[in-house]
Amino acid sequence: MLNIIDSVKEKMVLVCKVLQQQRLVDGYGHVTFRLPDNRILSTPLMPPGKVALRDLIILDTQGNKLEGPGEPNGETPMHTSIYKARPDVQCILHYHPDELVAVSVAGVGVKVVANCGAQFYRGVPIFDSPSLIRTDALGDKVAEALGDRNAVLLRGHGGTAVADNLDDLLRLGINLVRTARIQIMASSLGPVKTHSRAEVEEILQIDSRGKALRRFLDYYLSETLD
Ligand SMILES: [Zn+2]
Repeated sequence: MLNIIDSVKEKMVLVCKVLQQQRLVDGYGHVTFRLPDNRILSTPLMPPGKVALRDLIILDTQGNKLEGPGEPNGETPMHTSIYKARPDVQCILHYHPDELVAVSVAGVGVKVVANCGAQFYRGVPIFDSPSLIRTDALGDKVAEALGDRNAVLLRGHGGTAVADNLDDLLRLGINLVRTARIQIMASSLGPVKTHSRAEVEEILQIDSRGKALRRFLDYYLSETLD
């Protein structure tokens, strides 16, 4: 059990470093992971890209700190509400990239305008408030907006992605922003065409192969670690 938690901690630190290297997080943003025994591993109240192994904290399902040196993030209730509502979710990323804020305030959300957006074919809803998610009541509303999808935008604020492992979470986190960026570029040129369901299915079939994810991750990890 200890070894599993140690490897999750190492992966979480690495995910944060890639997000930082890609300029997807700055002083803010957070990543959490659901541990066994009703515990949550979390980056603490500090810039996520600067987090070292020793900084990680462990919370209970109400967001109270059980272990670790730092303090929980103010928006921890968003994470605890999503874990409560979604037993399938193992990890959560919350961040504030400009591209996500832009598409959220324009009210258009993220559409499948490129192959990197295929994973978002079920739609990315917009939580219609710029409030920071610092209470359980607001957390529950974000979880409700997310529903059974893999990402939600928060108007004028940022976005939140969920996955069942940290590799997929990193891929979702990068692809959500990249898709939004392409959408913003394309829509300035004219009407934007989105993928059909059949086109999405074709991409997802290729993306679901382990080697596609491996190649994606290897690239970003090598960019960060070299
Ligand atoms: Zn936030």
